[in-house]
Amino acid sequence: MKKRIATPNRTKTILEQHGFSFKKSLGQNFLIDPNVLQNIVRQADLTKSSGVIEIGPGIGALTEHLAEAAGKVLAYEIDQRLLPILDKTLADHNNVHVVHKDVLEADVKEDLTTWLADVNEIAVVANLPYYVTTPILMKLLTADVPVSTYVVMMQKEVADRLTALPGTKAYGSLSIAVQYYTEAKLALTVPKSVFIPQPNVDSAVVKLTRREEPPCTVQDEKLFFEVVRASFAQRRKTLRNNLWSAYPTLKEQEQEVTGAMEREGIALSRRGESLSIEEFARLTNSVMPFL
Ligand code: SAM
Repeated sequence: MKKRIATPNRTKTILEQHGFSFKKSLGQNFLIDPNVLQNIVRQADLTKSSGVIEIGPGIGALTEHLAEAAGKVLAYEIDQRLLPILDKTLADHNNVHVVHKDVLEADVKEDLTTWLADVNEIAVVANLPYYVTTPILMKLLTADVPVSTYVVMMQKEVADRLTALPGTKAYGSLSIAVQYYTEAKLALTVPKSVFIPQPNVDSAVVKLTRREEPPCTVQDEKLFFEVVRASFAQRRKTLRNNLWSAYPTLKEQEQEVTGAMEREGIALSRRGESLSIEEFARLTNSVMPFL
């Protein structure tokens, strides 16, 4: 049986051989449990015709599993010191291309055309650097890139927000942004003990499946996300309070706006956290004429 990178001993040996020291500022918590890695990869339903984008390969723990399950892997690694290590640990896998880039700065669309051109579908599979989980996901979800599935590890608290339903504490503008583009489900929870160094927080893997169509009809997407954010600006306040502060012109037309909302069956005395995505869409569409 092949010796996996992600065993505690092999990881320690690789790190020692290269004199590697972890940078907390880059979210470097490496996985040292092959079973967890296999579970992550299983969630992505990869085949040899799949292309995978990995963000942050580290020393290649997840990458080697991806290389075996998929046709091609494109991995973004920001830390220059990891490149010579990856050259060695992934030497047997000629279907992996590691680029030395900050994924937040990268032109992902262009990179896909170069490196994942002839695959049937593309998945993002990654143990994300936790300090930039949300910017990375929002960048990829709103970029015009053909990614059908995301299987991503993040801090449990963020995973709860991504998958939250209306009426729960974790539900907010991030839940709505992610669920507008994808169907989000919590796939696995992962203990701290499978990382080196151990993070301070619990972790979870979320699976996001891109929707063919948004779950609701929105006339102006930019305004929709703006209204959602405004509605959660102060969680304990009502929609009326939050909307009136964000849009003074609505307050000036109080009677007409309240009437329009009543016709939609949305009471302005409710709090943002009680509205479904579809209700936020109706709310936005009906305040639009007053802005
Ligand atoms: N995949 C490895 C594993 O599971 O063991 C490492 C995961 S570690 C949580 C996150 C990785 O992302 C690190 O290798 C780190 O250097 C890299 N990283 C951090 N910020 C990045 C960024 N903006 N763009 C690309 N890679 C980044």
